[in-house]
Amino acid sequence: MRIRRLGVVGAGTMGHSIAALAASAGIAVDLLDIAGPATDPNAPARQGLERAKKARPAAFMDSERAALIQIGNTTDDLGVLAGCDLVIEAIIEELEPKRALYETLEALLPPHAIIASNTSGIPMALLAEGRSEGFKRRFVGMHFFNPPRYLHLLEIIPTAQTAPETIADTRRFSERVLGKGIVTARDVPGFVANRLGVFGMVLALRMMEEFDLTIDQVDMLTGPLLGRAKSATFRTADLTGLDVLSHVATGLAKATGEDFALPEWVAAMVRNGQLGEKSGAGFYKRVGKEIHTLNWKTMAYAPATKPETPAIGKAMRLPLGERLKAAVAVDGAYGTFAREYLTRLSRYVITTAPKIAYHLPDVDHAMEWGFAWEAGPLAQLDLLGGALPDAAKLRPAAATEGYYAADGLRVVSLDWRGYEPIREPEGMVRTGALRRAGRSLADSPDATLWDAGDGVALLEFHSKMNSLGEGVLAMVMKSLELVAHDDRAGLVIGNDDSRTFTAGADLGMVAAMAQAGNWKGLDDAVRLFQGCSMSIRSAPFPVVVAPFGLTLGGGCEWSLHSDALQAHAELYMGLVEVGVGLLPGGGGTKELLFRFSQELAAYEDADPFEAAKRAFRMIAMATVSTSALEARHLGFLRDGDRISMNRDFLLADAKRLVLDLAPGYTAPPPRTINVVGRDGIGNLHYAAWAMHEAGQASDHDVRMALEIAKVLCGGDGPARRVTEDDILDLERDAFLRLLGTKETQERIAYMLKTGKPLRN
Ligand code: NAD
Repeated sequence: MRIRRLGVVGAGTMGHSIAALAASAGIAVDLLDIAGPATDPNAPARQGLERAKKARPAAFMDSERAALIQIGNTTDDLGVLAGCDLVIEAIIEELEPKRALYETLEALLPPHAIIASNTSGIPMALLAEGRSEGFKRRFVGMHFFNPPRYLHLLEIIPTAQTAPETIADTRRFSERVLGKGIVTARDVPGFVANRLGVFGMVLALRMMEEFDLTIDQVDMLTGPLLGRAKSATFRTADLTGLDVLSHVATGLAKATGEDFALPEWVAAMVRNGQLGEKSGAGFYKRVGKEIHTLNWKTMAYAPATKPETPAIGKAMRLPLGERLKAAVAVDGAYGTFAREYLTRLSRYVITTAPKIAYHLPDVDHAMEWGFAWEAGPLAQLDLLGGALPDAAKLRPAAATEGYYAADGLRVVSLDWRGYEPIREPEGMVRTGALRRAGRSLADSPDATLWDAGDGVALLEFHSKMNSLGEGVLAMVMKSLELVAHDDRAGLVIGNDDSRTFTAGADLGMVAAMAQAGNWKGLDDAVRLFQGCSMSIRSAPFPVVVAPFGLTLGGGCEWSLHSDALQAHAELYMGLVEVGVGLLPGGGGTKELLFRFSQELAAYEDADPFEAAKRAFRMIAMATVSTSALEARHLGFLRDGDRISMNRDFLLADAKRLVLDLAPGYTAPPPRTINVVGRDGIGNLHYAAWAMHEAGQASDHDVRMALEIAKVLCGGDGPARRVTEDDILDLERDAFLRLLGTKETQERIAYMLKTGKPLRN
């Protein structure tokens, strides 16, 4: 069944943000809450929608999508839910109101509609009690994590009565349309993520007392050192709210009979209203610009300390596997804590996993997607190997190759009897799997060309921050040649990094060449960059770029030159070169101008200056999209470009797009456009000058604006018709001129040192 219309009941924290996510995905939503006063019965739902519109970080990927949400109230409007294929209940966490709602829904909904609960703690079987068999077949848990746009995890909780097609439809919709990472949980208290997550937190708190450590020390030991989020234990608890943590821990203790007891001083904090972020103080407190940490023995706050030792500092910089091994090998109390904490946590995970999940990777994914761990607890044990002797002893005998088999295709089953295949949707493309299968076509330290199957090649960059230096440029050219030579269907440019498609050109290389006065080398490098862009465009086969997350500078330029984009919904794309005193010199300035000019070509008396102006604004302001939908509004994405909501499917979707484009493909022909020449330059320069006079732009900003204007207007001459090469020449000259200035070199040096732009 295709889910076309979604009902959400409860427009609170979860309800309104689930509605915003679904609307961002293009789904029409009915969002209901209880009735307000007679004069304004929809007030509660409207307030929810307003909160979604104002949420920071944004709940909507495109504010216009709010129009897809119809609000209403459960007194007058429950009838509209009869038009929905799925209704998600996200009302107050109490049994009776939820049951009463289901009773009404049962009488009202069409027989095909699925009813889901977002409960975080009430057993599904209890919620469904008293309902018909037909209802129970269509009833399932959908446990989102807050905020649902940004936390990848969604736990799906079927009961023994839930029909297989209900599970399949819910999964397909959540995974492909909403883009969530799905974990199937057993109908047990806390499901998977909260059960393990809260256990880990309580454990860290109690061990802090046992080992006589401070909050700063435990956060240092349980954060990035162990592949966890920076917020580690206590900062995460402050963000969650100590009241929520304590409520969930008590609930889990009662429901499981296990020991989740928090120390008495934490209970006292909850009683005193020291709840964390929302109450202004918890384990940490902001004092002016400083962060103060609670001393749990005296209950007084003092400025945060940095307890890091050189050994730990060194460990922090290692890749995860080596980092974990280094962490448990640290001398003294810190090493003892790390070993003991990981051992106790592992023991709990190993004994609990079969009770909460059906498939081992779900246990790891729950922690990776719900709590931002680099690798889940069992994947971590494989990385640690024998370095954690007590945990290694716990490993089931059947796990001869570790929890995950060396081929990357099998995993130990949760009855611990042997390996079973890793369950994954068909047709996934993952660089790790390609590596294990030995599918490389060409390899270098900075990039690899893979055979992604069905005649499609995949170019992955894996340089630092995936930056684009000589090594990557050479691999782009080589890949284009190889794909042509082997007569493959086409090429995907993409990677599996967790955050960054690419941070852009390798500035370190540019700075070094400029400092050495190697202008010939720089000219060659810029030509090569432009050559890569143009070769991507003119290749005799389709090239699809699959950008996601940070896609800056050169990554954006190559995206613009591709035949089509398969973009992840979370796309932060922009030409940000002005931040380092430059303009896009790899064909990006040219391509925006040509793209916007061609869009105007349909209008007979359109002014070509409009295209230059639009490109100028985006480049001079270094505009970066906050989502793929916004990138489409800005003009980085074209109509034929596609968006994948789920990052895990991005490469597979990009491959499919290549295969769609391949039959009968011919390269786009060279283009010419009209440019306005010197009159346009004056106009754009004036705009920059006005900003300068208003104190919003420096002398160097104005100089850059002039250089950008010259390129976009086709040079300081009369209006004329130009080729792509004409503009590329202007772009390259302007780039090198700016690079020769002291201010630009200062901007680059500052960026390399601090990671931030310098305004000079
Ligand atoms: P909330 O208090 O922010 O919102 C609940 C909303 O439901 C309110 O707007 C309330 O007016 C409305 N409501 C209450 N009773 C209703 C009824 N009978 N009919 C219609 N609307 C009704 O709560 P929340 O944090 O959004 O939680 C909602 C559900 O999601 C709970 O079951 C909770 O356990 C679960 N959950 C919460 C989180 C979280 O982080 N907040 C995460 C996952 C799951």
